[in-house]
Amino acid sequence: MKPPDAKVLLMPIITTFYVHIEFKIKTGIWSVNLPFLCSKCGVCCTLDDFLTAGKLKISPENPTVHVKAQTLYEELGRRWEADPVEYDRYITTTSCPFLFGKICSIYEIRPEGCRQFPNTPFGMQTQNCEALTRFKRQLAVLRKGRTTEIIFCFIERPIMHMQCTVKQYRRCVAKLCSAGITDDELALFCIFNEATM
Ligand code: SF4
Ligand code: SF4
Repeated sequence: MKPPDAKVLLMPIITTFYVHIEFKIKTGIWSVNLPFLCSKCGVCCTLDDFLTAGKLKISPENPTVHVKAQTLYEELGRRWEADPVEYDRYITTTSCPFLFGKICSIYEIRPEGCRQFPNTPFGMQTQNCEALTRFKRQLAVLRKGRTTEIIFCFIERPIMHMQCTVKQYRRCVAKLCSAGITDDELALFCIFNEATM
């Protein structure tokens, strides 16, 4: 695994969630932060909950999006009233109309549910998000064989301070590498921890 390069380290802090892990040992507690990094694969935008992810943050500057969203909401309303079973079939087989390729075309104003995914009860159970599967594997490998407590946090709040020795930190990095952490995920892990040292 090559060390994270400066360009990646300088990437803007993204909206995401992380887990603050506290390790309990005889002499006290030490901790690290494990962030989730969305790989922007676009898969969650094809899942059935995208249409119920909340309202868009639409301003008068984007009337095209407003019209498209209104059309979508009205169509969904009609489908629901006509036949709830058919409505369910429709939303489970239709991708979000704002998805182009793997890119969200309205990323800046996407609904709250999209911003939070996968940190929702629905999202955390999904088997479709490979980044989440990797995240869970990383969390498991860090906690394995240790007495721990975890706290789920959003980035909007100040990042919780990690408290550990260089040796403990390096051991965490080695475990994460053994769990198949990607270069970008490792870079974000470094940002979330070294920024709070
Ligand atoms: S499925 Fe996961 S990795 Fe892919 S875009 Fe959604 S949250 Fe990101
Ligand atoms: S609004 Fe954007 S992020 Fe949300 S489901 Fe649609 S394409 Fe995905």
